[in-house]
Amino acid sequence: MILESTKTLSSALERFEVEAGDYFLYTLKKGQTLRITDLEGNQAADTLFYSAEDTSERYSASDTIREQGGLYLSAGSVLKTNLNRDMLKIVADTCGRHDTVGGACATESNTVRYDLEKRCMHACRDSWMLAIQEHDELGLKKDDITHNINFFMNVPVTEEGGLTFADGISAPGKYVELEALMDTIVLISNCPQLNNPCNGYNPTPVDVAIW
Ligand SMILES: [Zn+2]
Repeated sequence: MILESTKTLSSALERFEVEAGDYFLYTLKKGQTLRITDLEGNQAADTLFYSAEDTSERYSASDTIREQGGLYLSAGSVLKTNLNRDMLKIVADTCGRHDTVGGACATESNTVRYDLEKRCMHACRDSWMLAIQEHDELGLKKDDITHNINFFMNVPVTEEGGLTFADGISAPGKYVELEALMDTIVLISNCPQLNNPCNGYNPTPVDVAIW
């Protein structure tokens, strides 16, 4: 569902530009709003969420899909934790659909999807591993990297239940906005993927704004 925000960027508390291949880590307070803007179009922002109080509670794709009765995320979607509590709500969205089934790119999936020689190419899981290593105060480990959301990524599910990685539906300036319903750690990997038509084989920066 397309729903425009009532917020203006000039009133944002903080702004960040995140290059493709970089990670972005931020702790949102309950009631704060975060907007991710796809600056050049067809980018994927692979994102994990954890409860700031106890990181063993984190975003759960299966709980979210079951509770909303739908596979895709857009305005109105409430993101659930693995304890089935409300974590964030998508309060504005000008892209219209975001994936939470396809998972993030990893060196392993690069070899399966593309070619054995792609194994050494930078993947989202590498950026997340770097983030948790550089921020050991969070206490996150490899096995805490679980369900994620691929904001702006178009992964249609076929009638047979298969996943297809299709051309992007996002465009320059499209954004998604989330309100925190609990104190939430946000960890974005701005995808460095060079082999996927979802981003037009061209990873580009995203803008993050906080209110
Ligand atoms: Zn990726």
